[in-house]
Amino acid sequence: MRFCSIGSGSKGNGTLIQKGDTCILIDDGFTLKEFENRLAQKGLTPLNLGAVLITHEHSDHIKGVGPLARKYRIPVYCSHGTAQHEGLGTIPSLQVIDSHCDFQIGNLTISPVVVPHDAREPTQFVVTDGEFTVGILTDLGSLTPYIVDKYRYCHGLLIETNHDVSMLRRGPYPPKLKVRVEGPLGHLNNEQAAYFLTQIETDQLQYVVATHISGQNNQEDLAIGNICSALKCDADDVIMANQETGFDWCELTFQQQLDNKKTLA
Ligand SMILES: [Zn+2]
Ligand SMILES: [Zn+2]
Repeated sequence: MRFCSIGSGSKGNGTLIQKGDTCILIDDGFTLKEFENRLAQKGLTPLNLGAVLITHEHSDHIKGVGPLARKYRIPVYCSHGTAQHEGLGTIPSLQVIDSHCDFQIGNLTISPVVVPHDAREPTQFVVTDGEFTVGILTDLGSLTPYIVDKYRYCHGLLIETNHDVSMLRRGPYPPKLKVRVEGPLGHLNNEQAAYFLTQIETDQLQYVVATHISGQNNQEDLAIGNICSALKCDADDVIMANQETGFDWCELTFQQQLDNKKTLA
């Protein structure tokens, strides 16, 4: 199983997870043309996609979903709350999921995880092929024991490190927006992300990716620094997802797992 991102941040998100001939896209915050270009850079075309999953209806996650699903007739999966959003338009095959039940797409099993965020029914996703597990956890303002439990045994983890609290408070955002971003239904800050990493099992973790980083309220070294102190690892061990290109394919393998153990030993 492998995963990558075509872009991450408040201007557009998209994550790909592939196992054999099953490939799913989680969120699409890009125009159709932009999306096709970004996908081509990862060596795929929309015809490779078996499904689009949506985490929530904010435009950086949903903007491109309607046009993509209509042009290529790709099924779209999302919660009942997300499906109510008028911005989706007509979707040829809309699959409304129960946000507390696992579902199957090809050879991937997907567990939706409800998170605290200011959307109608936001769900993040944990995806497994039976051997390895990838967890995507962005766009949440706070952590709950339920979330920690659902993400406890990931081999690949995409974790939101949206902002540094003091940069946000000093920064250019209007007061109301600062309150929203920092609030319990906003976005995860560097320290929350680091705390989360101390609460889950990390022995099996092969890749950790810092995602949904604010261009104005964070710096890469701050986001990575917090993760490194939580995991007791080097900066080189942390992958940064950026707005322009996301990050490259990460392959989960048994060999990678052994190499990781050696590095940590
Ligand atoms: Zn977002
Ligand atoms: Zn959001």
